[in-house]
Amino acid sequence: MKTVFVVGAGPAGLFAARKIATAGHRVVIFNRDIKPGGLAEYGIYPVKDKMKDGLRKQFGKILELPEVAYFGHLPVGSGHALTLGELRQWNPAALVFAVGAQGTKKLGLPGEEARGVYSAKDFVYHYNRLPPFATRDFSTGKRIAIIGMGNVMVDIARWVMQDDPERRTEEVTVIARRGPFEVKFDEKEFDHIEAHLDRRALQDELQRVKERIAAVGQDIAKVPESSFPTLAKPFQEATAPRLTFRFLSSPTAIHADASGRIAHLTVTENLLVAKNGSTAAKATDKTSELEFDTLIFAIGDVVDPAVGLPFGKDGYVTNPDTAEAERAAYEVFDPAGGKVVEGTYVVGWARKASEGLVGKARFDAEQGATHILKHLESAPARMSAAPEEIRAALAKKGVALVAKEELPYLGRAEEKQARARGLHSFKFADDAEMLRAIEEEKSKGNSGSAAAD
Ligand SMILES: Cc1cc2nc3c(=O)[nH]c(=O)nc-3n(C[C@H](O)[C@H](O)[C@H](O)COP(=O)(O)OP(=O)(O)OC[C@H]3O[C@@H](n4cnc5c(N)ncnc54)[C@H](O)[C@@H]3O)c2cc1C
Repeated sequence: MKTVFVVGAGPAGLFAARKIATAGHRVVIFNRDIKPGGLAEYGIYPVKDKMKDGLRKQFGKILELPEVAYFGHLPVGSGHALTLGELRQWNPAALVFAVGAQGTKKLGLPGEEARGVYSAKDFVYHYNRLPPFATRDFSTGKRIAIIGMGNVMVDIARWVMQDDPERRTEEVTVIARRGPFEVKFDEKEFDHIEAHLDRRALQDELQRVKERIAAVGQDIAKVPESSFPTLAKPFQEATAPRLTFRFLSSPTAIHADASGRIAHLTVTENLLVAKNGSTAAKATDKTSELEFDTLIFAIGDVVDPAVGLPFGKDGYVTNPDTAEAERAAYEVFDPAGGKVVEGTYVVGWARKASEGLVGKARFDAEQGATHILKHLESAPARMSAAPEEIRAALAKKGVALVAKEELPYLGRAEEKQARARGLHSFKFADDAEMLRAIEEEKSKGNSGSAAAD
């Protein structure tokens, strides 16, 4: 039996942990958040209860495995209580990074720091109640721009048009640098917001970009079958708030009002050109001014360099070996030393930022775990620190970590809150409240299900 450290307890970290633990190894998981689940807990749309509950159950079973230890409330990286160097001092036989994509893709626009300008990940963390985002100001106004045309855009549009209890939304405009044939959202997801689509406005927009997209052989008559099947259905007026699209437009500057909040946005008009069998946007020198009081970038995320792994333009650097590409793609590589960082792996969104759904992250992690298990077969035996030793060392440093044995106390406290409020589920909005709730339940000796009350 060897000891493997997994950093990150989203779907990728947990499914990798399961595969490694069930092969007979000990796994110690270090997670930034108190709760496990990553974006499955704090990204997936709040009302997708069935999916979330199903994943929570699976994650719970993984944490119940006796070979798996879990330490939550414990970010790893520079500036945190635990650095990569300190982790290595505990001598794991392998180190797996499943930290997701926590960096923010910035466009570096003038005015980006205006109030009311958010990155999608932060915004989604806010409405899914992840501390510390849960308690920060993510106020939205009447006219909201969302940059990007993927499923995350759909979730955010759905939140601000339907479910946000404080919504003031009158109009959401989706802004995209390319055109109507390059939408990335799934039809099934778009169905949730289809009723808000202002079809007249969309037809006007298609006319506006018609000639520019015809330059790459695209015909607006084919838009209904390609990306907006709703256009082929009998006409219906949009349900308020309305949803509009602005194609072939790239934001170039954000302008704030006297209070410091975004008031309008400059966009550059783009042409569409053919590139490597696909299309690309090419900026013109024509610009337009659009009025918004809220702007959300939903253009994907990047990994966080502060974790401490070798970092390049495509994220954490992996082994470029093409002869063994399948395995190499998971191995962390030190470009300065020109060699693989022994026994160190990346899986899930930490390996490929913002790529795919939970099923894909799981598949990626399990593939990675197969290579890790192979590595463990020949890795020299080490005196790795036991979970109790790690816990004691962290306690000495004053770190308030939450172990897997304590998670049921939190679950119980949240169940009670949900029942008292008549909600399907409830989440505490800050870490201190969660830690307090755990202590309170512990002091009562309660760890079972609230149903037993
Ligand atoms: C808005 C949104 C909606 C989505 N909706 C769906 C959906 O409906 N259905 C679906 O199947 N998929 C959905 N997805 C995709 C799905 O969430 C991802 O595929 C999946 O969560 C990626 O898993 P991961 O484990 O690689 O990363 P994450 O889920 O991001 O997990 C990363 C984990 O690492 C931890 N961590 C981060 N940094 C550190 C650090 N420095 N030290 C220690 N721990 C750290 C975090 O606490 C977290 O637990 C959605 C994604 C988003 C963004």
